[in-house]
Amino acid sequence: MAYLLKGVSILGAAPTDLAIVDGVISDKAPDDAQVIDATGLVALPGLVDVHTHLREPGREDAETVETGSRAAALGGYTAVCSMANTSPVADTAGVVEQVWRLGREAGLVDVQPIGAVTIGLAGKQLAELGAMADSAANVRIFSDDGFCVADPRLMRRALEYVKAFDGVIAQHAEEPRLTEGAQMHEGEVSTRLGLTGWPAVAEEAIIARDVLLAEHVGSRLHVCHVSTAGSVEVLRQAKARGVRVTAEVTPHHLLLTDELAAGYDPVFKVNPPLRTRNDVEALRQALLDGVIDVVATDHAPHAVQDKECEWSYARPGMLGLETALPIVLSVFGEKWDLIADRMSIAPARIAGLTGHGGDLSAGTPANITLVDPSARWVVDPAELASRSRNTPYAGMNLPGRIVATFLRGEATVLDGKAVK
Ligand SMILES: [Zn+2]
Repeated sequence: MAYLLKGVSILGAAPTDLAIVDGVISDKAPDDAQVIDATGLVALPGLVDVHTHLREPGREDAETVETGSRAAALGGYTAVCSMANTSPVADTAGVVEQVWRLGREAGLVDVQPIGAVTIGLAGKQLAELGAMADSAANVRIFSDDGFCVADPRLMRRALEYVKAFDGVIAQHAEEPRLTEGAQMHEGEVSTRLGLTGWPAVAEEAIIARDVLLAEHVGSRLHVCHVSTAGSVEVLRQAKARGVRVTAEVTPHHLLLTDELAAGYDPVFKVNPPLRTRNDVEALRQALLDGVIDVVATDHAPHAVQDKECEWSYARPGMLGLETALPIVLSVFGEKWDLIADRMSIAPARIAGLTGHGGDLSAGTPANITLVDPSARWVVDPAELASRSRNTPYAGMNLPGRIVATFLRGEATVLDGKAVK
């Protein structure tokens, strides 16, 4: 199928026509192309998420590769990197190939598996990183996300190992000895509520250590879900020295604060926890400055019984794929170049995903997101495509609807609805 997007604004520029033919962007559409009136719509390179939990294999009651892929496409994504904390853990070539194959079968986004750093995420022994890199899944990002690779010797060896194939270690920065029993951000609110705190320094200490290790080894480090102003300062200094470090921030850490814990609604429980207004401001500035490279969703679907319970028993994590772009739009406004870079171009570069994060010029793969920035919508958890319902944005009125998403020229979303 060929398409002609009539009157579309590419990254906010003056309206033009954009044709999609045989999977690539073209100067000219054939006569039988399906015409889409794109007046008032903005075209972006298809969004890329470097941090998604798809839960399959093992927790298909919370999400599957297919339902998560559909949520991603509806959120404007054309590629997602799926985290390794499945059951079994994605720590072998067999499991990463299984996830990769399920993603191709669903055919809604490119699912790029992330491999575990250590066997079983146990933090004791390196997983077979080379075998996962050489597999059909072509793994380049490795992460024990959910857990920190706390052992500095193991972290050093992992960084050394992935250097051979330009891989990257994505660290969930949390010094576990400093967060034992933690329920929320350590600060005024946790003191008032009498909940055990997760101190900012538990994140900052690991990032500081890891940028030194990455610098020493000359390898690539990626820092997952940066959440504190202090972490931003550590990253700013490391980048100024030329350390090969990249970092992500989640939409929820760009918007929400620890005050929300006061209602004890576990939908606001997440790891790292929601921080203070001061942290939120520092993270926003860091994304604008480029100290933080990308917005990543940390989409973390959970089954009802794991979320609708007492705060202390609830699993940490929030849905993110279907609301990420609207949240970023609501925080930063229509800064399309910033959005394209932080949500598509930079994440594709970090993940090594060729064909994604392009510039929408003729001849490039037609991975495209079409957004209506003027449309507002109210988030209704029951209407989300994710199998889970744990969105912290329920009832919020957000700007920006995804009208269409194209994966290599095939529409995965049209008129705001999933095609399959
Ligand atoms: Zn994490």
